[in-house]
Amino acid sequence: MRTQVGIVGAGPAGLMLSHLLHLSGVESVVIENKSRKYVEERVRAGVLEQGTVDLMIETGVGTRLKQLGLVHHGVELRFDGRGHRIDFADLTGGKGITIYAQHEVVRDLTDARLADGGQVIFEVDDVSIHDFDGTRLRITYRKDGAPHQIECDFIAGCDGFHGICRPTIPAGVLTAFERVYPFAWLGILAEVAPSSDELIYASHERGFALHSMRSQQLTRLYIQCAPDEQIEAWPDARIWDEMHRRFATHDEWKLHEGPVVQKGITEMRSFVVEPMQYGNLFLAGDAAHIVPPTGAKGLNLAIADVRVLARALAEFYRRGSRDALNRYSDVCLRRVWKVQRFSWWMTSMLHRFEDDNAFDRRRQLAELDYVTNSRAGSQSLAENYVGLPMEL
Ligand SMILES: Cc1cc2nc3c(=O)[nH]c(=O)nc-3n(C[C@H](O)[C@H](O)[C@H](O)COP(=O)(O)OP(=O)(O)OC[C@H]3O[C@@H](n4cnc5c(N)ncnc54)[C@H](O)[C@@H]3O)c2cc1C
Repeated sequence: MRTQVGIVGAGPAGLMLSHLLHLSGVESVVIENKSRKYVEERVRAGVLEQGTVDLMIETGVGTRLKQLGLVHHGVELRFDGRGHRIDFADLTGGKGITIYAQHEVVRDLTDARLADGGQVIFEVDDVSIHDFDGTRLRITYRKDGAPHQIECDFIAGCDGFHGICRPTIPAGVLTAFERVYPFAWLGILAEVAPSSDELIYASHERGFALHSMRSQQLTRLYIQCAPDEQIEAWPDARIWDEMHRRFATHDEWKLHEGPVVQKGITEMRSFVVEPMQYGNLFLAGDAAHIVPPTGAKGLNLAIADVRVLARALAEFYRRGSRDALNRYSDVCLRRVWKVQRFSWWMTSMLHRFEDDNAFDRRRQLAELDYVTNSRAGSQSLAENYVGLPMEL
């Protein structure tokens, strides 16, 4: 098989890249090692920045998002038993975020690619990439036991943190920057109406807690836990008990309980490789960087990368210019590092660290007090949360 751009991974990065390339008249093939059902049901992120929402609507994949997405114009920071609202609309000139699950984004993009005659090949095995430092690039894989090969001009490594593209780059080319946090998130999905119209980020003596939602009927809740915590040690009653303590307020607010339909533990990591390209191989999304989920940025950053890449590839095919391709990594990394900073800052402000002492806790509370009571402080949080402007 021959195509212009071979894409490894049918997550948000790979599918959006294929969609944007198609709109610019560039051919691509996406290969994915999991089944379509699996990727369309994999529960992950759920907060879309304004720019991600606008892109989906402008490029024709926003119909269900407009019907089902929950638009929020603020979030609550809760500490010392009181809530403090950050008003995004007021602080950012009318911008907001939309709650719409990542697997719905994946579903919309997959449907659009297939309806437009695109090729998304699921359930492949033994994927490897070859000659990407030259001009005769190949992706090889097996499908139903039979060997296949894709020849292409460029390869996009959109295969996530555990994918094969980044590790295939020769040793010494990439520099990795990493921070692993001394805690994890225990997350549940509960069949109950959200207890608040907006997200609640709670900083408590016992640790961080987040109240989020997937729909009007599904609540997503997280609590900070030890990194080596076993989920078996957390029966539902213990989880609810801890949630009630961390979200407790001095007023009448109540956390709604409902059947827990999913639970799991997610590690917290900040990770970046530089550069995000080698020869004609370009890394995008989690393949190149990971953020702790506190800033709700992972999915949005993946989409931002492929916007830059799609434009650079389109420019190459339209005008034969490699200028934008050569700048891909530099352009993306400016945003990546700003998003890393924001995600690290939110994480540090809201979580308890194992070596925290009374001074650190007082300082954290002073920071929350400043952020929620200073317009400059609130505005900085708001403009980062709704998404910094795209620099293409
Ligand atoms: C459990 C979990 C919870 C998360 N929660 C949040 C959250 O609340 N908020 C937030 O902002 N972010 C969250 N994230 C991060 C967010 O989901 C990611 O940043 C986002 O998925 C990045 O998209 P991507 O396309 O780069 O990578 P992925 O979504 O990981 O997609 C990569 C794709 O490549 C496929 N693949 C891997 N290896 C191969 C191979 N060898 N060959 C072919 N295909 C391959 C994978 O199956 C996958 O479909 C979460 C992540 C996880 C794991």
